[in-house]
Amino acid sequence: MPSIVVLGCGIYGLSTAYALARIQHSGQNITIIDVAEYACEGASGRPTTFLSDAHVRNPDLAALLRYSLAMHAELSRKCSGGARWQYQSAQNFDATPANGSIDAEIPAGLSWSKCGEPWTDAQWSRSTEYCSVDSHALGCFLLDEIRAGGAKIMFSTNVVRASRNSGHAVSALHVRPLGGDESSEVEIPCDRLLIAAGPWTAKVLKTLYPSATLDVPIYADAGSYSILLQPLPGGTSQPDWLNKSVVLHTGPRSTQLMMRQDGLVHAATVPPVTLDLGNFAGDSRVTHVGNALHDLETSIQSMLGMPSVTVLRRACFNPVTRSGLPIMSQVPYSCLDQANSTLAADGRDSGVYILGGHGYWGIVASLGSGKLMAQVMLGIKPDISLENFQLGTAPARETANGQDSPSRNGC
Ligand SMILES: Cc1cc2nc3c(=O)[nH]c(=O)nc-3n(C[C@H](O)[C@H](O)[C@H](O)COP(=O)(O)OP(=O)(O)OC[C@H]3O[C@@H](n4cnc5c(N)ncnc54)[C@H](O)[C@@H]3O)c2cc1C
Repeated sequence: MPSIVVLGCGIYGLSTAYALARIQHSGQNITIIDVAEYACEGASGRPTTFLSDAHVRNPDLAALLRYSLAMHAELSRKCSGGARWQYQSAQNFDATPANGSIDAEIPAGLSWSKCGEPWTDAQWSRSTEYCSVDSHALGCFLLDEIRAGGAKIMFSTNVVRASRNSGHAVSALHVRPLGGDESSEVEIPCDRLLIAAGPWTAKVLKTLYPSATLDVPIYADAGSYSILLQPLPGGTSQPDWLNKSVVLHTGPRSTQLMMRQDGLVHAATVPPVTLDLGNFAGDSRVTHVGNALHDLETSIQSMLGMPSVTVLRRACFNPVTRSGLPIMSQVPYSCLDQANSTLAADGRDSGVYILGGHGYWGIVASLGSGKLMAQVMLGIKPDISLENFQLGTAPARETANGQDSPSRNGC
């Protein structure tokens, strides 16, 4: 079996490692590494998560989401996802307040959950269209399974360089504990390397291949926040609320709220600001947020009719691409090592792969993308075509909101 290293312990690193271990019936040849202290410290651990393919028009993305949604349902059925990661059908209420101002229009207390007067374009989804999960709990489940399959998990670990051999662009990775010096460096054999480091993917590739000509087209969506609130007064004794979510569109910002089975209300917003990404999940500096968090808290207090809310979690960053389509691809040898023109010219297998940039469909697409990536890494024909998710070959294509985008993916 090839030695496989997965960089990134977000939902994409975990989904791929999980699928690799299942296809091989063993995870003993897999090492998964993250600089952060825990799994899913970035966007993957944010608590308000909807699973749906509603509103997706791009046919390639829609096919990927359908494939992945079926896997979510199946995994949940087999492994008690309802109890373990709160997988459940949910109803979503999508609304634009009449004058666009969240504060002026939100009815105090719980009455927002009834479709009604103050909203324009307000609509409850059909309950079959949406599911919800606690993505952090899903990530922890995958991690436990991967560990049980014999994989090695390394947190608080920095990757410093890659060695190559005559055939591949990677033969080993050199890693150090966070803050460690050269003397603490360890070499890990690696025939297949997956970089699934979310918005840090470009940075990781540059560290390993400083002369790479690849411009990794995965970016961090400007400042996304999530907060987790204390239980509502009355908590789960308010059945009207359970498994219901609301998305309010107000100018450049939308706000999501969800009442979960555990009685807690989860909330998120995407403020129009740029944040300092930091070096890895958990290291993000929350210095340029303006009033974004304060505004979110005020809106939520008003919606829930609560005098104060408790913030348990703050910044995270959404990995996105300009085309609106994710990257699920081997990195062409020629983008990593143009100096070695003979190897680059013969289209050789580089052994290096990138997975990420799924944007706001990231949790929906995770299990499916992980399995497809695992198939590609093991030389198996993927269940659905990944042709339009490749690096370096992207044609002009339709984005998620239906526009043609001439962007090229990478090198
Ligand atoms: C506010 C918000 C709302 C969202 N809502 C939804 C939703 O409702 N439904 C949905 O499906 N999706 C949603 N998403 C999208 C989804 O959360 C993301 O697309 C997904 O979590 C991205 O996962 P990832 O594994 O690619 O990245 P991340 O979760 O960012 O994981 C990347 C990991 O790489 C690690 N890393 C960084 N540098 C290194 C390094 N040098 N070596 C090793 N590891 C490294 C980081 O520490 C991190 O753990 C939302 C996102 C946000 C921000």
